[in-house]
Amino acid sequence: MAGVLVYIETDKDRVAPISFELLGLARQLTEQLGGSVEALVAAADPEPLVAELAGADVVVSVQSPALAAYTPEAHQAVLVEAIRSREPQAVLVGYTSAGLDLAAGSATATDRPVVGYCVGLAVDQGELVADSQLYGGKLVATTRTRPPAVFSVVSGSFPEAAGRSGGRGERVVMDPPDALNHLRTRLVGTSSGGDGAIDITKAERIVSVGRGIGGPDNIEVAEEFAAALGAELGASRPVVDSGWLPKERQVGKSGMTVKPKLYVAVGISGAPEHLEGMQGAGLIIAINTDPNAPIFQVAGYGTTCDLFDLLPALSEQLKAAG
Ligand SMILES: Cc1cc2nc3c(=O)[nH]c(=O)nc-3n(C[C@H](O)[C@H](O)[C@H](O)COP(=O)(O)OP(=O)(O)OC[C@H]3O[C@@H](n4cnc5c(N)ncnc54)[C@H](O)[C@@H]3O)c2cc1C
Repeated sequence: MAGVLVYIETDKDRVAPISFELLGLARQLTEQLGGSVEALVAAADPEPLVAELAGADVVVSVQSPALAAYTPEAHQAVLVEAIRSREPQAVLVGYTSAGLDLAAGSATATDRPVVGYCVGLAVDQGELVADSQLYGGKLVATTRTRPPAVFSVVSGSFPEAAGRSGGRGERVVMDPPDALNHLRTRLVGTSSGGDGAIDITKAERIVSVGRGIGGPDNIEVAEEFAAALGAELGASRPVVDSGWLPKERQVGKSGMTVKPKLYVAVGISGAPEHLEGMQGAGLIIAINTDPNAPIFQVAGYGTTCDLFDLLPALSEQLKAAG
């Protein structure tokens, strides 16, 4: 059996940061499991991606026009084929929008168990021990799985640097599976979900509101604070799903990824899906009445003050300071 196979994701035609995290993790795992760190690149033009994968011992590439845009059907067909032919002890995919499809689908198709939401993964006595962060980080479940198995890993859990170098750089070109000739799904277009008037990805300061804001009538407390701070307003998913703020303000896995200099999280618990979109911020300040909220684990500064006491007072101070 090969060692560990990493499904490579892309972000704006480059290898996505999560894939470097997974390559670094794969290196740690192969030190005990044996075998190679293998990277699977499925793309219309794999070459520029292959060139970035110096952290892999073996880069398995599959080239087909059918892989130009991500569709679960096409990419899963390739991953399943790669698992069957390479027989890895562990398959690593990101716990991302694509990984959510691929981990479960490929595990089922190849009769392997799947462990999701992993924030820790190690080998102990031949078994894979995973820590999975559940319920927005309120619970960590530890599981032991006999390989072979599939794992989806939460981004930000492992260092990227370890996956950027140190591989042997061998190449294997895999034929596209026949399934790509019979696809029933094709991407017809993408839309931003808004009118393009708001682009929080370019904001240097963001005040983001979560469910702790309580209801649509209270949004103005945060709006006033954001205006006083010269910040854009962001939101967690429940706030958007409830219709309190528009979709283009949503931060996280199924929203925007932002990297402002300052990110103030107001009444946000810090679920992995939210952290995925904002943990690259320069400084994170958390306002949350629950001292155990996971948001405090990524915050540079935090307070357990009630947001309804704190925000109006801060807005006044900022206005007074001009
Ligand atoms: C596939 C998938 C994709 C997802 N994508 C996203 C995404 O893109 N973005 C996203 O945000 N979520 C996403 N989620 C949802 C995510 O799992 C969480 O459910 C969500 O982030 C929780 O939002 P929240 O922190 O606003 O709410 P909660 O988890 O309910 O937290 C509210 C917080 O407010 C605090 N609070 C309450 N009252 C006050 C007060 N008066 N003052 C101060 N603090 C107070 C509470 O202590 C609590 O910690 C996704 C989930 C899935 C499964």
